[in-house]
Amino acid sequence: MLPNNPAFAPVLELTMPSNTTYADNKARAAGYLSRFSLKPAGHFINGKWDPSEGQETFSNLDPATNQSLGEIVAGTEADMDRACEAAANAFPEWAAMPGAARKKSLHHFADLIERRADEIALIESSDCGQAIRFMKQAALRGAANFRFFADKAPEARNGQSLFQPDHTNFTLRSPIGPVGIITPWNTPFMLATWKIAPALAAGCTVVHKPAELSPLSAQLLAEISAEAGIPPGVWNTVQGYGETVGRRLCEHPAIKAVALVGETRTGSQILRQGADTIKRVHLELGGKNPVIVFNDADYDRALDAVIFMIYSLNGQRCTSSSRLFIHNDIREQFLQDVRKRVETLVVGPPLDPATEVGPLIHEGHLKKVMHYLNAAVEDGATVAAGGNRREDLGPGNYVSPTLFIDANNKMRVAREEIFGPVLTAIGFDTEEEVIGLANDTDFGLAGYIWTKDTGRAMRLAQRIEAGMLWVNSENNRNLPSPFGGMKMSGMGRDGGDYSFDFYMETKNVCVAHDTHSIPVLGHHN
Ligand code: NAD
Repeated sequence: MLPNNPAFAPVLELTMPSNTTYADNKARAAGYLSRFSLKPAGHFINGKWDPSEGQETFSNLDPATNQSLGEIVAGTEADMDRACEAAANAFPEWAAMPGAARKKSLHHFADLIERRADEIALIESSDCGQAIRFMKQAALRGAANFRFFADKAPEARNGQSLFQPDHTNFTLRSPIGPVGIITPWNTPFMLATWKIAPALAAGCTVVHKPAELSPLSAQLLAEISAEAGIPPGVWNTVQGYGETVGRRLCEHPAIKAVALVGETRTGSQILRQGADTIKRVHLELGGKNPVIVFNDADYDRALDAVIFMIYSLNGQRCTSSSRLFIHNDIREQFLQDVRKRVETLVVGPPLDPATEVGPLIHEGHLKKVMHYLNAAVEDGATVAAGGNRREDLGPGNYVSPTLFIDANNKMRVAREEIFGPVLTAIGFDTEEEVIGLANDTDFGLAGYIWTKDTGRAMRLAQRIEAGMLWVNSENNRNLPSPFGGMKMSGMGRDGGDYSFDFYMETKNVCVAHDTHSIPVLGHHN
């Protein structure tokens, strides 16, 4: 549901200037960003901004220039403790509020996101390097996330009625308590709203720990929460590093559940950190997702989708299809066509409306992606397109969109998550063979199947080990549908009622009809 969603078109028209130029975007972004260069961005705790004077800070770098966009306060354990206590204190009242009132409040939140969508999109694009064409849609998807869960708030507590001849069981749901939400840098605004909106709709209070590499849109969200009249302590944001404030959030006894979107390695750390307090944990982790194109596929649509699903969002996308399995009958032609398109992708500054692939988030991530570009060649793959850094674009973290061919599933580029615009293509002959190849991975987040044979699509959908499969489609999001992965890609599902299952406790109440005989003990006369 992210890019090019026609449902967003009318709102897009109203909230964001169309036909802007790169120069316009840069000027508006500079205006919006200026306040972040004046004062370090700090925490939002119990409805107030923390004073940042004298606190330790770190620089937040622009991926397009590696220049600082401003300082960010590096939160301490004590900051996190205050946020968790605020969330705990605010919980009883927020949880007791009727769902209809939360619904109203969250719709108001969505209105404010839409009103500030231009600012959100430009700040987000500048902060995380994702092309503005995608971040406009991501801003509106943030509002859509709030509206979707707002509408569900009144029914969130509803349970099931489970009948037995002598008893009726019914279930009740109640919000689990204050929760921690830890988000990554790839689409930070959209992902934060996707996790936080259902938590608030369920009646939980929230402590948000945004990624240290893209902290700015979290500041806007905290501001909007105050503007929307969300009571103090219901929404708290603590900036800083994962190993300090993130860890403390997982350990804090007042926090009843932690939802992470991040790397697999971080997921296992979070499980350990939450173990002593028996934290309920939801993990949305990495992927190495296959796209399988059979020789009977709709060739042109498959070609568009294959390219879109790895090169959009700079390939920094958990559901990116980074492994292409292409049927050997059409392999040569298809890969030639992919190569031609990859070579014409427009790499450039994120705020340029023409840009399709922007800079990677950080120099450290650029090094990681470059490491894989070298590893592929060492392992024997052939570079069909790209394969190099784009120093001609300046000091930003630019890399050429890359296609590897002559690869196999044992190579590092086919096994490890690169999280960049890098596609590894591998040929196959049979259905059985490609199922084996697709499943020969530690990950299990998403998969894409291209064939006109419905029976075959159904067979693959059953056998491919992934939480989400798309048949003849790129990633199309439906908010009620479950989102999440299996294997090392995570545990738990988001979306619709699945989100409420995570953020709520389910209680069973068993009521007798007074018709059954109760076992009698100790009545011996
Ligand atoms: P990351 O795991 O490095 O960081 C994610 C968040 O976790 C950050 O806020 C970070 O500060 C925090 N963190 C790090 N160590 C922590 C600790 N010990 N305790 C608590 N918090 C800690 O991930 P990233 O590099 O920001 O994001 C990219 C990753 O996210 C990729 O692996 C990608 O696949 C994944 N991702 C998954 C999904 C999904 O839905 N499955 C969606 C987007 C991104």
